[in-house]
Amino acid sequence: MTSKRKAENEALEHRIGSGRVAREDYALRKVPPTWRYRRASIILTLLGGATAGVFLAFPAQLAGEFGVYNVIIGIAYVLIIQTLLNFVFVKTASRTGLSSDLMSRGLALGFDGSAWTTLIYWVGWVTIFATEGQILASAVTAQYGIPDSVSKLIVGILFVPLVLYGLGFLANFQKWTLYLYVLGMIGLIAKLLFTGPSIGSLATFYGSHTLPVGGLGLLGVLAAYNGLLPNVVFGHADVARLLANKESLTASGRRDVLWISLLPYSFFAYVVFGLVGLYLWAATGGSTNPGTYFVGTIGIFGFLLIILTQVRINLINAYSGSLSLANFFSRVHFTPGRPTWAVIMVVVGTAAMYLDILGNLGTVLTFEGIFLFAWIGVILADLVLVRGRHGYGPESGQFIEYRRSMLPRWNHVGVIPLTISTATGLIVAFGGENGILGGKVALDLSSWVALAVAALLTWVLGVRDRGRSYAIRPLIAWPRSDIVVECPLDNEVVSTDDLFPCPYHKSWICSEDCMSTRDCNEQCKSMGEEALLQIAAMPPRSEALVAPNKELSAKRQRANADLLPPGGSHGTR
Ligand SMILES: [Zn+2]
Repeated sequence: MTSKRKAENEALEHRIGSGRVAREDYALRKVPPTWRYRRASIILTLLGGATAGVFLAFPAQLAGEFGVYNVIIGIAYVLIIQTLLNFVFVKTASRTGLSSDLMSRGLALGFDGSAWTTLIYWVGWVTIFATEGQILASAVTAQYGIPDSVSKLIVGILFVPLVLYGLGFLANFQKWTLYLYVLGMIGLIAKLLFTGPSIGSLATFYGSHTLPVGGLGLLGVLAAYNGLLPNVVFGHADVARLLANKESLTASGRRDVLWISLLPYSFFAYVVFGLVGLYLWAATGGSTNPGTYFVGTIGIFGFLLIILTQVRINLINAYSGSLSLANFFSRVHFTPGRPTWAVIMVVVGTAAMYLDILGNLGTVLTFEGIFLFAWIGVILADLVLVRGRHGYGPESGQFIEYRRSMLPRWNHVGVIPLTISTATGLIVAFGGENGILGGKVALDLSSWVALAVAALLTWVLGVRDRGRSYAIRPLIAWPRSDIVVECPLDNEVVSTDDLFPCPYHKSWICSEDCMSTRDCNEQCKSMGEEALLQIAAMPPRSEALVAPNKELSAKRQRANADLLPPGGSHGTR
C-alpha cells in the first residue's frame, strides 16, 4: 500500500455517529454509509460464531448415522452452496445496509407478510442457542458429576445476567477468546495425537462407520445440512450490512464479499472444524459431544475452554434472537427494549435444552429447513430474477423498500409462494415420515421441494405483477443533495433515503421513529406527495456532516461512473 493511500485510509477510518443507535450498530434500522467496518472486522465477528461447538458435533453425529464418506461429500456440498448463497446476501446487505428482516419486507413479502419469516428466524436462533447450551451443560456435568438436568438449569440461569450486562464487555474480548480457542484446540489435538489411539485403530474405527456411499445416506446428510444453511445465510446478511462498500466513508476492496462469504463459515466452520470434529470423534472412541470430550481429554483446561467459547457464542445467539423478537414485535409498536427480549430468549432457549435439541439435531434441522428454504426461495427469486433479471421494483429493482410508510401490509408476490411452498414441503415431509410418498426419500427432499416451489411461484407472480406491489406509492425523492443527515427526532446520523416526510410529526423522520409511532393512524398513507412535502419540515444541515457529505457525494459519483460505459451520460440515482 502506498503511503498516500495509507494516509487516505487512516483519515477515513473513523465512523461518524455518537448516539445510542450508532453504538448498537443500527440494530433495527438501515446502516448509513458513515458507519461501516472493514473486511477484517466483519470476518472476525463471523468467526466468533463459526467456532461454535455444533460445527464439531454435527458432522460426527451425522457420520455415526449415515457413514463417514457421505459426510465428506456433504461437507463439499455445503461449502459450495453456502458460499454461493452467502455471496448474494452479503453483497445485497452491504449495498443496502439492510438486515435480513428489513430486506424481507421489501423482497416480495410486505410489512406484515415478513413477520412470519422473522418468527421462523427466531426459532432458528433458539435451536442453535439450545444446542450450544446443551454442549456447555454436558461440560459442567463432565467436570462436576452433577446430573445433566441440573447442569442445564445452571447454564440457563448463568445466561440471564450475562445477556443483560455481558455483551458489550465480551465484544471487547472477541479477538482474545478466539486466539485462546485456537491454542486450546491445538493443545487438545496434540495431546490426542501423542497419547490417543494409533492410526491403525483410527482406521478401524472409520472402517466400522462406512455405510454405502450415496443414496439414502447421502440424502440424509444433505437434508440435515440444509437445515443449518439458512440461519448462517441470514446471519451473514445481518453482519455484512455493516460492511464498507464503494459508496461508504470507510474504504473497502473489491473482493471483500467473496472472502466474507467463503472464509469464516464455509471454509472454517464446515471444512476445518468439520474434519477436526470427525477426527476427535474417532480419537475419543465415538464421542460426538465436545462438551464431554474436551473435559475428558484435557481436564480443567478443556472445561475452561468450553465455557469460554460456548458462553461467547451463546451471547451472540441470544443477541441475534433478541433482535428478531424486537423486530417481530415492533410491527405492533410493542417496544419494551432489547434487555426484555434477551431474557425471554434465554428462558425459551433453556426450555428448549430440556427437549434435547442436541440429541435430535438432524431431525429438528430437517423440519426447520422446510420453513427456512421456503423463505430463501422467495427472497432469492425476487432478488436475482424479478429484480435482477427483469428489473422490476423501485429504481429498476435496485432499491429495497422497508419503511412502514411505504410498504403494503402484504405483498402477494411473496406471501402466496411462501405459504404454498411451506405447506407443500410439510406435506412431503410428514408423508415421508409416515412411510408414504416415497418414505425417507421424500422427507430428505422436502426442503428442496419447498425452495423450488417458492422460487418458481415468486418468479411467475413477480413477472405478472411487474413491480407494482412492492410499495404503496412511488418513491418520494429526498429534495436535497446530502446523503446523510441527523434525524430531527432522535439526532442519530441516518441515510437520507431512510427518512420519510411525516404529517403526524410534521417533519422528515427516520424509519425507526416511524415504527415506534403509535397513534398517527398512518395518515401519510392517504396523502399525496405534494401535501406531505409541504407539511413536513426538512432537517437542518448539521455542521459536522458537511465534510462527510462532500466525501460521500464524490464516492457515489465515482461508483456510478464505474457502472456506465465510457462516454455514456452520467445517470443520477
Ligand atoms: Zn429518528
